[in-house]
Amino acid sequence: TIQLAARVQAVKPSATLAITARAKALRAEGKDVIGLGAGEPDFDTPDHIKAAAIAAIQSGFTKYTAIDGTTELKQAVIDKFKRDNGLEYGHDQILVSCGGKQSFFNLAQALLNPGDEVVIPAPYWVSYPDMVLLASAVPVLVHAGADQSFKITPDQLRGALTDKTRLVVINSPSNPTGMAYSHAELAALGAVLRDFPQVVIATDDMYEHIRWRLEQPFVNILNACPDLTPRTLVLNGVSKAYSMTGWRIGYAGGPTDIIKAMKKIQGQSTSNPTSISQVAAQAALEGPQDFIGMMVRAFKERHDVVVDRLNRIPGIECLPTDGTFYVFPKATGLIERLPGVNNDLELAEYLIEQAGVAIVPGSAFGLEGCFRISIATSPTNLEQAVERIANVAAGA
Ligand code: PLP
Repeated sequence: TIQLAARVQAVKPSATLAITARAKALRAEGKDVIGLGAGEPDFDTPDHIKAAAIAAIQSGFTKYTAIDGTTELKQAVIDKFKRDNGLEYGHDQILVSCGGKQSFFNLAQALLNPGDEVVIPAPYWVSYPDMVLLASAVPVLVHAGADQSFKITPDQLRGALTDKTRLVVINSPSNPTGMAYSHAELAALGAVLRDFPQVVIATDDMYEHIRWRLEQPFVNILNACPDLTPRTLVLNGVSKAYSMTGWRIGYAGGPTDIIKAMKKIQGQSTSNPTSISQVAAQAALEGPQDFIGMMVRAFKERHDVVVDRLNRIPGIECLPTDGTFYVFPKATGLIERLPGVNNDLELAEYLIEQAGVAIVPGSAFGLEGCFRISIATSPTNLEQAVERIANVAAGA
């Protein structure tokens, strides 16, 4: 057998991709499985974005670009940060990458030394801890259950910070919980971070636009604490807002020296993101934004139905969310009642086998006893899936 690097042992394959693959395999065997694992909108990429990409191909825009993105796309990102977030960046403060995933990967590689600690609120996006481990650093998980709306408190944050902490991650609205921190909550977290000047902050705003209360402006920690700007990275991308997951474009805005270091890492791994996708992302950021409203209205309707129906199932408690296309019900009561089911991993197994519904167990996101449902699938699928869960619950 071939000897592999130790770092391969240190990380897990993505649990969300695994459940999607499992559902696909069962379907290939002829089983009727409704997949609620998807981490991407079920809408097509808008036509004007596709048209921009097609024109880019036809005009021969198919070669290397600058590593950190084309001047035009970086300008579109700068304009976006100004327009939507009130943040001002220069061209040397922006890095365009192959998805938000690479933005965070670059940050971890650029910032972390072996033994450095990274504070990650749990439930978390599955990739943060593993990307930290790939940088030989140590994920420090701070647990926030349903009783605190899955949001960490300032005291918890203070308790997790040490002189080894290099990075704190905030993801709001959150994958998997759908919860968003308020301005006041971010101000309180920021107040704690003021006492730890060596700590860099990453705010992952990937779900910025997928929120229900649009009369309230989106806020991240820099809106609440502008003084933290010199040590905060704002991570975002076009994947979720414009249903462009396959195009692989994410971007980061932040302090010049960190962006420069991230660019250096990217320059020796992928180089520039795909030239064609960059043109498409520019069209997404600069073009009409009405697609987002249409998608968000659809998600909100599905959210309301799913949360209501889930809460009628004895043993399941589901908080309404602030946004994203996930809900994160607590199922401890149901787990107790189902025969042979002792935890959320076994619940996921049970539901895929007995109910033909693929969900992602909460453990994958660092919180046992819960599970994640993606509402990025047709209302018919969703209603059927929840009915199937209700039926196995009623039989237990
Ligand atoms: N951040 C969060 C919280 C996410 O949920 C995702 C995707 O699942 C990403 C970042 C990265 O998305 P992408 O690499 O497709 O841009």
